Amino acid sequence: MRGIALVALLLLTSFSPALGNATAQPDIIEEYWYHSYLSLTQQVNQWEADYPDTVKLVTAGQTELGREQWVVQISNWANDTAPNGSAKTKIYIDGGHHGNEHLGTELAFLVAEYYIEESATGNEEALAVLETTEIHVMIMLNADGNDADNRWNNNAIDLNRNYDHMWTEEETRSGRGGPFSESETRNNADYMAEYMVDADLYVTMHTGVWILAYPWGWTGDMPADWELYTHMADEIHANISPDLPIRNANAGIYPTHGTSRDYGYGVMGYPTFTFETDDEQFLLGTTEKVSDRLGLELEVMRYLIRDAWFWRAHLEVESVEISGDEITLDVNNVAHASTANATLQWIDSAGEVGWNSSLFAVNASNSSHVILDSTNLTMDEGGYWNLYYQVRVVEVSRWVNETVDESLVSIIKVEDDGFLLGYGLFNPLSLIMALCAVAILKPELSEIEISE
Ligand SMILES: [Zn+2]
Repeated sequence: MRGIALVALLLLTSFSPALGNATAQPDIIEEYWYHSYLSLTQQVNQWEADYPDTVKLVTAGQTELGREQWVVQISNWANDTAPNGSAKTKIYIDGGHHGNEHLGTELAFLVAEYYIEESATGNEEALAVLETTEIHVMIMLNADGNDADNRWNNNAIDLNRNYDHMWTEEETRSGRGGPFSESETRNNADYMAEYMVDADLYVTMHTGVWILAYPWGWTGDMPADWELYTHMADEIHANISPDLPIRNANAGIYPTHGTSRDYGYGVMGYPTFTFETDDEQFLLGTTEKVSDRLGLELEVMRYLIRDAWFWRAHLEVESVEISGDEITLDVNNVAHASTANATLQWIDSAGEVGWNSSLFAVNASNSSHVILDSTNLTMDEGGYWNLYYQVRVVEVSRWVNETVDESLVSIIKVEDDGFLLGYGLFNPLSLIMALCAVAILKPELSEIEISE
């Protein structure tokens, strides 16, 4: 029945006058008929023309047969930063590694379409996301395979075994002599390296077994950031669907090497997922509207995108108390990934790290009360306090520097007038305390108790 209905629909739409002069696929066709490279190319160019404040269109390079690997960059491009002045959160999405997995490509398309078209009609969620977030979507990575309706690229390579992470020739058609032998995968990795080094989410879209799969594929071991993935899975199960399987890929699908998901996590350090929609791979269209069919998947994506600020460690200092040879640091991690190797640093007036604390950890959604040995600490005029840490536990995750607000730093006990004066020269509060100390205290006192 499905097949007959589809043929009838195609006959109907083929003769629709809308086809002749439309520059992009009309909605009625888009809802039932999967994108070709041509119809996608028309649509993404139309988006850029219609929504110049929201959409930038770039190409990551060409496929083996010379088709463009379009990337739609979606944000509120009127502003370079989030409203609070911090860098925007970055999200990367791709679809269509496997050319016959059309619903995965369509899911990538639907996500891009949601933020572009909904923000244009004033949808508050879409507008709020685009204020703080850049979403980059390569909808159709393997246009050659897509238009031939087959899994491989034009060299009969499985592109999702061709990435340079645990690559092996043991995997079927994993590459011609090594990883990144194909232009499609090299272009994708180059795009990540150029635009997405700071990304806090990467989702790659496929079809097969219905699952949202996190790393790893190459081993059954849980990823270092298992707390983060478990949190996301719990939230999706509680708030969106208790039924969507969310597991590590090795257990949930089967062991794989050289995938873009493992590369994104293991080399680039992003939280990554493979989103596999259901397994109808063998038709070029669907008898149920794509937007209905992928409604739940879109809702999951909206959650992952809306909350992307939380997919890392975010440290917020409560207080720094300097007391003799000890520093007491109270710090909150207000996001959902742990950090394992943070340090408190004194950055001197020349901008160099003048002093480094020992390493400390702050678990996801937790606080740490840390006592640090500061025996060798010297602070010079014009310097400042800084937190230096990795935003996730996976060893390749990115490092951040975050200046500690001066008003949170207090000196409880000071042993040395010179140090106090030095510090006071650039901290108004300390300057007052220093002047009081010089005025009031007798020189034979070796320690001065000051509290705020
Ligand atoms: Zn696939």
